[in-house]
This record gives sequence, structure tokens and C-alpha cells, in this order.
Amino acid sequence: MREILLLKLGEIVLKGLNRGMFEQRLVKNLTWRLRAVGEFDIYCLQSTIYVEPKDESVDMDAAVDAVSRVFGIVSICRAAECEKDMDVILDTALEFLADRLETARTFKVDAKRADKTFPKKSPEIAMEIGGALHDRFPHLKVDVENPELCVKVEVRDRMAYVHANPLPGAGGMPVGINGRAALLLSGGIDSPVAGYMIAKRGVSLHGIHFFSYPYTSERAKKKVLELGEKLTRYNGRLRVSMVPFTKIQEEIRAHCREDMFTLIMRRFMMRISERVAREYDCRALITGESLGQVASQTMEAMGVTGAVCELPVLRPVVGMDKEEIVRIARKIDTFEISILPYEDCCTVFTPKHPKTKPRKYDVEAEEAKLPVEELVEEAVAQIEVITLE
Ligand code: ATP
Ligand code: MG
Repeated sequence: MREILLLKLGEIVLKGLNRGMFEQRLVKNLTWRLRAVGEFDIYCLQSTIYVEPKDESVDMDAAVDAVSRVFGIVSICRAAECEKDMDVILDTALEFLADRLETARTFKVDAKRADKTFPKKSPEIAMEIGGALHDRFPHLKVDVENPELCVKVEVRDRMAYVHANPLPGAGGMPVGINGRAALLLSGGIDSPVAGYMIAKRGVSLHGIHFFSYPYTSERAKKKVLELGEKLTRYNGRLRVSMVPFTKIQEEIRAHCREDMFTLIMRRFMMRISERVAREYDCRALITGESLGQVASQTMEAMGVTGAVCELPVLRPVVGMDKEEIVRIARKIDTFEISILPYEDCCTVFTPKHPKTKPRKYDVEAEEAKLPVEELVEEAVAQIEVITLE
């Protein structure tokens, strides 16, 4: 008996959009994500993706864990594969589900016959297997509405499959199907969550991080890369452009009004990010801004900072409370890293009384005291790109 995974696909199947492309991309993403776990045959038939280990030594728990973070899958069935024969199907169910049949109080059997040449119809298969399981486990009660254990028998073209109670998949759409976007990744709680949310919509990420050595430490940089690494579990490979930001910050501090420091700094971030985005074929910028959270995240401030770039700025957590963001951060396992107490370039030189309702022309006038283009060029020329797998 071999255990395989049957993966059920997400919303594009329902919407009838470009299904072939969706499936191909998903197979490609799965192949990439599972290569560290072992060797698998991965293919798609009738809107179901089959993940079949090539040998018995493969750790299927690790495979399920990896697959549970691949976007585009709604549910994961750990299934036992067997011959298309009623006796074999029953034996397989007894062996594969023994523990769960033992502990469950209620159950039902569903059957699906995709192979129409199979001599028994779906209701007959369900009745017979259900009856036989009940004989062996007489404590089980049948509950068709809300059973603890829902046994499923699928008779497909090549083989039959037995599984029960599918696990939830990551949902969303396969990463890459909707292009690429650049994530402004700080060391905080919000930006990794923002990246996760956009990746979930089928967008592949490119990270950008601004650091201000020696005001920010090597350890702070490492923290950001650790966050990036957590994101690779959803996004696949992630490149992060590390932008030196010290000179720009020092220039702003030396020449511009203190209450506009953060705004001008953020406008530089957006300009540089747009350059990076274009170089890596990204179609949008992503930030972890949340409305009203800090002075630089009022509507007026977002207007002033967003005004320097043409690409759309996606702010997926804009309407979320901190607790909601934290809940997702915990789920994607970035929270504990984000709360490590290392400084971020945004916390260097923060004004005592930042402007919360800036006017664009005031900020522009203040910024005109700096050689903006030159500073941007200089920072871009010094970017170091780090690839996380
Ligand atoms: P986060 O928790 O993501 O750090 P925050 O609430 O601390 O967010 P800010 O520091 O004002 O907010 O930053 C707002 C957004 O700007 C961040 O979510 C991130 O997208 C971007 N950002 C801030 N600092 C950096 C940085 N050093 N490098 C890259 N992006 C940054
Ligand atoms: Mg921050």
C-alpha cells in the first residue's frame, strides 16, 4: 500500500479561468517546494493534483507540511492507493484508517466513481464499504450529516484511492500566476504579513530592505533575512535587495525640517523601490502600512509618500487592527522573529512631532534642498542582492 497526496484546487477551477495555466504553475511550484523532501511524481488529472512518492523512504508528514503552504490548493487528502477491486479497497481502508476507525464515534462513507467502466456505481460502493467497516468496528454510528470520520473512496482511471477528512490547504492562487511585486520588508510585524497576503493572490515577491549601518546593526539585517526565509515557505525562492540608506538619512537630517524627516525618508524609499521593482519586472510595490497606526500612515501621509511613484502601492493590511495582523504573523511563524528587539532604519532619527497631515507641496519644497536624483542613483548603485531559498 502506497500513501500519496491528492490535492484539490482552488478558486480558478470554479471560475473557469485559464485552468491549464493554473495547473501547470501549481505543478511547477509543488515540484520546487517538494524537492527538499524527496522525489515525487507530480501531475494533474481531472482538476486533481497527484503527488506520488517515488520510493517508500519519503517522509509524507514533511511532504504534507510543505504542501500546506503552497497557494492554490484548497484541500489535501492523504490517500492510500490500491487496485480497483472491492476486496482490495476494503482491506486498504481497514489498514490505512485502522486507528481512526478505532477512535471515531461516528462515520460515513462517500464514494466517487470517475472510471465509468467500474462495475459498481458510487452509492453501491459506499454502501458495501460502509457496511463492511461497520461490521469490523461495531461501535461506529453512521452520521451522514456531520460524521467525525468521513471515509472517501475514489475509483479513478488508473487506481482506486481511500482517504478520510481532508486537511485544509493554503488557499489562494499559485504564486507567479499574477506576476511579481516588490515587498518593502522591514524587521517589523506588518510587512511580512503584507507579503504573505499578496503572495497568496498568486503574486511572486521580490524583497527590498533599507538598512542604515552603523545606526542599524548586522544583527538587524540578519533578522530581516530570517523573516524573508519564513516567506520562502510560501513564496518559493525570494531575492532581497539590500539598500544602504545611511547617507540619505544623514542628508535629510542635516538639511530638512525635523517634522518632515519620516515623510521625506519614506519618499526616498518609494523612489528607490520603484527602480528596483522595474529592474526585476515587478508590477507593484507592497508595504505593511495600516491606516492611522503611526504618524506616517495617515491618509495624507500615504498620499504624499505614494505620490513619488507610478506603480500601484498595495497595502493589504491597511484596514486591519494590530491584533488581526499579529494573528496572521503567528500563523506564518514570523511573529517571534519580528518582535526581536533590533533597531530598524525607521527608528533612527525619528522626529519628536512628526507631521500627520502633510501637504505635498510643503514636503516637496523641503525635499528640494537635497540632490534627490543623485542620492537615489548612489543608493541604487550600492544595492546588494541576497537570494533566499
Ligand atoms: P512593520 O511592522 O512592517 O515594520 P511598521 O508599523 O513598523 O511596519 P513603518 O516602520 O512606518 O511601519 O513602515 C511602514 C512600511 O514601510 C513597512 O510595513 C514596510 O513595508 C516599509 N518599511 C519600513 N521600514 C523599512 C525598511 N527598513 N526596509 C524596507 N521597508 C521598510
Ligand atoms: Mg517598521
